[in-house]
Amino acid sequence: MGGDVVVVDYEGSIVYAKVNKDGLYVCPLCEVALFQSPRDLMLHIMAHAKGYTEKLAKIKKEVE
Ligand SMILES: [Zn+2]
Repeated sequence: MGGDVVVVDYEGSIVYAKVNKDGLYVCPLCEVALFQSPRDLMLHIMAHAKGYTEKLAKIKKEVE
């Protein structure tokens, strides 16, 4: 494991997230979703708060 923890600042919202070896942000909540941009990470975290992450994770998988 490991990976650097970075501060992600998106429109005034700040979260701490790990960056994996490919330079992708790792969701600090579910630790499975990966994102290229702070915006995508934030949208995903907001989705956690609203409770539809399962759906999003599935969409993400299909996209990849
Ligand atoms: Zn997540």
